[in-house]
Amino acid sequence: MAQLVLLAGKDRSLAHRHPWIFAASVDGLRGRARPGDTVDVVAANGRPLARAAWSPASKIRARVWSFDPQEVIDDAFFKRRVQAAVQRRQLMPELRGQDGVRLIHGESDGLPGLIADRYGDTVVLQLTATGPEKWRSAIIAALQRATGCARIYERSDSDVRRLEGLEPVSGWVLGEAADEALVIAENGLRLKVDIVAGHKTGFYLDQRDNRLLTRELAAGRATLNCFCYTGAFSLQALAGGASGVLSIDSSAPALATAVDNLALNPQLDASRAEWREADVFAALRALKAEGRHFDLIILDPPKFAPSGAHAERAARAYRDINVFGFRLLKPGGLLMTYSCSGGIRSEHFQQIVADAAVSAGCDARILRRLAAPPDHPVALHFSEGEYLKGLLCQVD
Ligand code: SAH
Repeated sequence: MAQLVLLAGKDRSLAHRHPWIFAASVDGLRGRARPGDTVDVVAANGRPLARAAWSPASKIRARVWSFDPQEVIDDAFFKRRVQAAVQRRQLMPELRGQDGVRLIHGESDGLPGLIADRYGDTVVLQLTATGPEKWRSAIIAALQRATGCARIYERSDSDVRRLEGLEPVSGWVLGEAADEALVIAENGLRLKVDIVAGHKTGFYLDQRDNRLLTRELAAGRATLNCFCYTGAFSLQALAGGASGVLSIDSSAPALATAVDNLALNPQLDASRAEWREADVFAALRALKAEGRHFDLIILDPPKFAPSGAHAERAARAYRDINVFGFRLLKPGGLLMTYSCSGGIRSEHFQQIVADAAVSAGCDARILRRLAAPPDHPVALHFSEGEYLKGLLCQVD
C-alpha cells in the first residue's frame, strides 16, 4: 500500500480526528496509488496515523476511512459502517416510522463522500469522492443488506464530483422504477419525491423537524414561504391552520410538484394556498411595494456559500432577504430563517440576521435555534457537518 507522508507539524487536525487531508499538508506519496485507492497516512517521522482514500485531483487530497492505522479497508469494513449508520437511525424516536430518512451522512457517519437517503423502499445513493467511487459495489451490497430495500438509485451528479475529477453518473443500480410516482409520508402529509430530476437526492429531508415546528406555529397566521421547492413547509403550515400561505420559488418543475402535493392531501384547504413562480429577491421587494404583511415568514434559500471562499457575497444575499423578511412582518410576527451554507458558521449567520433586523428597524429576539434532525448527525470533530442552521425570531 502506498504511503501518504504529511509535512512536519501537519498532523494536528488528524490528531483531532478531522477526516480531511488538504494538499497543503502533504509532503508526498511514497509508492503508487490510483484515485480512490486506500493509502497509509504517516507523519513526517513515519509514525502511522490513519488509512484514507487517495484523491489526487482534489484540494482535499485524502479522506480518512479509519483513524486506526491497522484497520483493513475491505468489503467487510463498508458492511460494518453502513450497518452502524442504519442502526443509528433507529435510536431517535422521531425517526422511527419515517418514510424519508437520511441513512448515511458522509463524514459524520464515518463514510466521507457518501450520502444515502431512503424514501420508502427506495434508497438513493450519492457518491461525491473517489473513495466511495472505488468501493461502489461493496457500498451497494452493504446498503441492500442493511435496509432490505429492493430498489437503489444512484444520483452521483452533484457538482462537487468535478473537483474530484469524476464524471456525473445517474441511474438504477438495483431494481427499477415503480409504475407509480414515489410518494412519502412526512409527519402526516403525503409528498411526491422526484429522485431522478429533483434537487439533491430528490427532497430536503434536513428540514423535517422544522416543518413540523411550522405546523405547530401556523394557526391563524398569514404565512409567506420563500424558496418553497415542492411545498413541504407550505403544506405543513396549511395543516397547522394558517389563514393563507403564499409560496415562492423560481423553479417551475418544483412548483408543479408542490401543486401535485397539495392535491395528494385533500384534507388541506387548497383555497388558502397561492403559488408564485418568481425570483425571491425581486418578489420580496414587490410584496413590500404592494403593502403586503405576514404573521409568519419562512426563508429557506439555497446554499449561497458552498465554501468559506464565497462567504462575503453570500452574507450580502442572506442579509438582503432577511431585511425584507423583517420588513414584511406584522407586529409580533415570526421569522424562520435558515442557512444551509457550509461556508457560513452559526455565529456569523446570527450576526447577519441581527444586522438585517437593524436595517429593517426591528427589535427581535431568538425564540429557538434550529438545526437538521438526527438523521443528519454531526461528527464531533467535523464542524462542517453542521451545515444547516436556522433561527426562529419574533419581532416586537
Ligand atoms: N424549503 C424547501 C427547500 C428549499 S431549497 C423544502 O423544505 O423542501 C431552495 C429552493 O430555492 C429551490 O427550490 C430553488 O429552486 C429555489 N431558488 C433558488 N434560487 C432562487 C431565487 N433566487 N428565487 C426563488 N427561488 C430560488
